[in-house]
Amino acid sequence: MSEQFTDPTCIFCKMVSGEIAVKPLFENSHAIVISDINPQAPVHALAIPKRHVPSFAALSANDADILTSVMFAAAEFARSQGLDASGYRLNINHGVDGGQTVGHLHVHILGGRKMTWPPG
Ligand code: AMP
Ligand code: ZN
Repeated sequence: MSEQFTDPTCIFCKMVSGEIAVKPLFENSHAIVISDINPQAPVHALAIPKRHVPSFAALSANDADILTSVMFAAAEFARSQGLDASGYRLNINHGVDGGQTVGHLHVHILGGRKMTWPPG
């Protein structure tokens, strides 16, 4: 299990705590969904655990409830946007090669346009 519950220097923790004001697009027990500040698709949001988990790679079996909440938040948000029929992409970046730039686990939800493969 990740040791820290919150990291005072983490921008996503500040959003969860309310130190940085943000209106979640969706919320459940362990996760919130926020708009990405630099959208790469007509719909681009981030599903974020309320607890500070530095990365996907930091998850352990004890974090199953957190991971479930994050993934269900992504699914329910996508459904609320009417994306179930057209499709969408979920993306998790880990580490330098994965292109992770914020050190708090987040699942990108991208939709509203046709995605390309492979990703860059
Ligand atoms: P990643 O590169 O996978 O770590 O993704 C980080 C994402 O967080 C990027 O898509 C950024 O545009 C987004 N981001 C960074 N700062 C903010 C912020 N203050 N509010 C919303 N999204 C943000
Ligand atoms: Zn954090």
